[in-house]
Amino acid sequence: MKLCEKFASFLEEIDLKSIENSNDCIYFLDSDFFVRGYNSAYYNFAMANGATDFNKSLGIGSNLLNSLPKALKSYFLNAFAIAKENQTIFSHDFECSSIDTYRLYHQTAYPLPNNKGFVITNHCFINNHREDKAVALSEQHVDSNNLIIQCCGCQKLKNQKYLRWDWVPSMLSNDKANVSHSICHNYKSHLYPTETKAKTKTISKTS
Ligand SMILES: [Zn+2]
Repeated sequence: MKLCEKFASFLEEIDLKSIENSNDCIYFLDSDFFVRGYNSAYYNFAMANGATDFNKSLGIGSNLLNSLPKALKSYFLNAFAIAKENQTIFSHDFECSSIDTYRLYHQTAYPLPNNKGFVITNHCFINNHREDKAVALSEQHVDSNNLIIQCCGCQKLKNQKYLRWDWVPSMLSNDKANVSHSICHNYKSHLYPTETKAKTKTISKTS
């Protein structure tokens, strides 16, 4: 367990021993979304998945908002603001897969008393061999502005020719300059279920 000394006083009611012993990746955020501590599982997961420059991007003093893709920022800021304001738990599922493993996580944000921040837990509940057909990067993945559109949820690339989302493993570890992040339909309906449902209804009503 790594913990910022000043922040430890906000965690007096929390069972830090259980957090450290948990297999879930757990970290603490202050009210401005700076990481103030984490358990060993969080560190080990980052290392096992090739985190470069851990201290700067994920360690103590790093900011969650800097690691969030632009397309997701408003979703998370809104969810955290509601959780903070009402002192309620915010939870959602997200995909964090590797080249051959499909992983789904359940993330829960527990607000700390007096708006001091959050305890964030990430529990892996699906860990399977990936079944998507792997596709090689091609010009079908480049749009008219020379951009490659990648979903920030599932990491798939938009196929501009067939208007579908392709699994292109080589792009997981490829930081091409012309990648733009977006949200595929599946991930959108996961993040905004009511909005997506409402839209589908409107479309079927008018058509
Ligand atoms: Zn997606």
